[in-house]
Amino acid sequence: MKVTKMPMVSACAVHDCAYNGHGNCHARAITVGDGAHPRCDTFVVAAAHSNPNTPVAGVGACKVVACSLNSDLECRAQSIRVGYHERHADCLTFTKG
Ligand code: SF4
Repeated sequence: MKVTKMPMVSACAVHDCAYNGHGNCHARAITVGDGAHPRCDTFVVAAAHSNPNTPVAGVGACKVVACSLNSDLECRAQSIRVGYHERHADCLTFTKG
């Protein structure tokens, strides 16, 4: 069986997300993009928070085909950073192709 290596989420500044712990994302993997916009689709505000001792997240999928790092609906960056854009969470590594 072939295993796919995911790009890592090297940092996330969205501290009000339930997956954020000390500036890192602790979801197992995130999905980026709601079509043309590089939004973090995994962002959620909840009473429960993920365990900050778990490994940092990978990028499981990216739906933003307008990004030059996107190939076949997958992110080909080594790692990405996530942060606020206006009032929502965006992939800051997005590079318009
Ligand atoms: S906004 Fe996205 S990248 Fe940041 S902690 Fe939440 S799920 Fe992870």
